[in-house]
Amino acid sequence: MNRGPSAEIDLSALHHNLGILRNLTQDRSVIAVVKADAYGHGAVEVSRRLLEEGVSTLAVAFTGEARQLREAGITAPMLVLFDHDDRDSFFDLGLTPVIHDLHTAEEFSRAAQKKGKVLPVHLKIDTGMGRLGFGPDRALTEAVRIAVLPGLSLEGLMSHFSEADLSDRSYVRQQVAAFSSVRQGIAERLRRPLVCHMANSAASLSLLEAVFDAVRPGLLLYGYSPFEEQFGLKPLMSLKARILAVRDLPAGSPVSYGRTFICKRPSRIAVIATGYADGYSRLFSNNADVLVRGTRVPVAGRVCMDLTMADVTCVDGVAEGDEVVLLGRQGDEVISARELASRIGTIPYEVLTSLGSRARRTYLN
Ligand SMILES: *Cc1c(COP(=O)(O)O)cnc(C)c1O
Repeated sequence: MNRGPSAEIDLSALHHNLGILRNLTQDRSVIAVVKADAYGHGAVEVSRRLLEEGVSTLAVAFTGEARQLREAGITAPMLVLFDHDDRDSFFDLGLTPVIHDLHTAEEFSRAAQKKGKVLPVHLKIDTGMGRLGFGPDRALTEAVRIAVLPGLSLEGLMSHFSEADLSDRSYVRQQVAAFSSVRQGIAERLRRPLVCHMANSAASLSLLEAVFDAVRPGLLLYGYSPFEEQFGLKPLMSLKARILAVRDLPAGSPVSYGRTFICKRPSRIAVIATGYADGYSRLFSNNADVLVRGTRVPVAGRVCMDLTMADVTCVDGVAEGDEVVLLGRQGDEVISARELASRIGTIPYEVLTSLGSRARRTYLN
């Protein structure tokens, strides 16, 4: 029973966060990014709720993720952002590939003709992220070639920002300008509407000129902004674990591997059923707080594989079986994924995916 942490996912916060998004983007249609198991929140449950809330399209990284959603009965349009390897599954599961090279487009075209099907595709333009996509100089000619390939229906154009979360907006604006010009060129040549989308969470929250026809946020849906400012977003995930034992140790006692924590006074140490095998980073050793009985207390010593200790000397009545909050709210105290991320030099994305993907999850509606 007492194994590892459990994550509580508050699906009702999706409604709240979508409301904030729609308000800021003038009700642009939403392509919800649910890759990496919805950033550790559970892609099936989150996707179902997002669709109930009026989201039009889902985006995943890989076909395996799309398959999981289809097998759960989710029939919504689905963009596969990155992989093309499992070509048949695009046809079998009705998925939309994001294409970033001509060669792949030609292979999909041949496969579509063989199957007698028409496959919707989106093209990715590299406007400065330097990852995937047609360079803006070649995008127009390649798009026109792809648009006439039999068996393909070019429906969308996308690009991705590399630093929309910086306060210096100059590079972001440069990327928007590059995308706009490609979009305009393609629209003039093809003379039919394409769904153009570029804005991730950062751009959706901060740059109306970047929203085009649809926005493509991930993080903000889960209740975090990539900025200092949180825009009133509500996190979905909290993470709780049990206290397995409470130890009273004399001054001078070491706690955990490597004796990196020595009790400075007679101390009460709680042993918590969470460790780095649960995604609670070892970098939190002596370097994070947890909440016990509504009080913030420090992690004491190294985080172990399955266990973490906390110094609860200053909290009255802590007992075996008490609930500890590692992430989320308890009483008036809150530990956010932002706080945890900044402790260990990373971003909330990594904290959410590593903690959420390993925990047992329960859902609140
Ligand atoms: C992950 C991802 C997003 C979502 O980014 P957030 O910063 O979480 O909003 C959008 N587009 C692409 C291509 C992505 O890989």
